[in-house]
Amino acid sequence: MSNHNKTLGLDKSLYDYLLSVSLREPEILTQLRQETAQQPMAIMQIAPDQGQFLALLVKLIGAKKTLDIGVFTGYSSLVVALALPPDGKVIACDVDEEYTAIARRYWQKAGVADKISLHIAPALTTLEKLIADKQAETFDFAFIDADKSNYDNYYELALQLVRPGGLIAIDNVLWSGRVANPQDQDNRTNKIRAFNQKLHQDQRITLSMVAIADGLTLAMKN
Ligand code: CA
Repeated sequence: MSNHNKTLGLDKSLYDYLLSVSLREPEILTQLRQETAQQPMAIMQIAPDQGQFLALLVKLIGAKKTLDIGVFTGYSSLVVALALPPDGKVIACDVDEEYTAIARRYWQKAGVADKISLHIAPALTTLEKLIADKQAETFDFAFIDADKSNYDNYYELALQLVRPGGLIAIDNVLWSGRVANPQDQDNRTNKIRAFNQKLHQDQRITLSMVAIADGLTLAMKN
């Protein structure tokens, strides 16, 4: 008897099927994904079905002002910017000039460059500045997908910056399955484990961990 209340581990053929009946990736995002696949750090790019899910969430909550913490080549900023209304805004944080140059090129090409404001600086600095600039509780949505050792710091600052009812999405929380292997005592694995445990107990948020791509935690600020 098959077990219908357990999340499926998708093999390639089932994942391809899922994409074939649901992915509506705009051409510009497909091009960006293909160009990024040539980069040595291509694994840092989010999955297209995950991008589409983020776009749906952004529309669902009627987001206008969003944070993208960890830009890389700009896929998540772009997918969110395309989902935002014309007066929407993405504050994008990254330290890498080279990868974000690719991002900027695609944002221009997609006609949403004016919606995205890129801050080349440590994201902690940018987020602290936004708080000092009295922008706490003015954001609707935040996507965290940057260095794992700072996840808790990004989360705490994002929690100050989003409004009640606003949403924080955090990527890579299942960490290729390594979080479930007690033998894996890698520093980043331990950081993600501790982070997941903390959010499980955190009464400031409404929580769901979604087994999409490498694991995506959704935390709505209460
Ligand atoms: Ca990621």
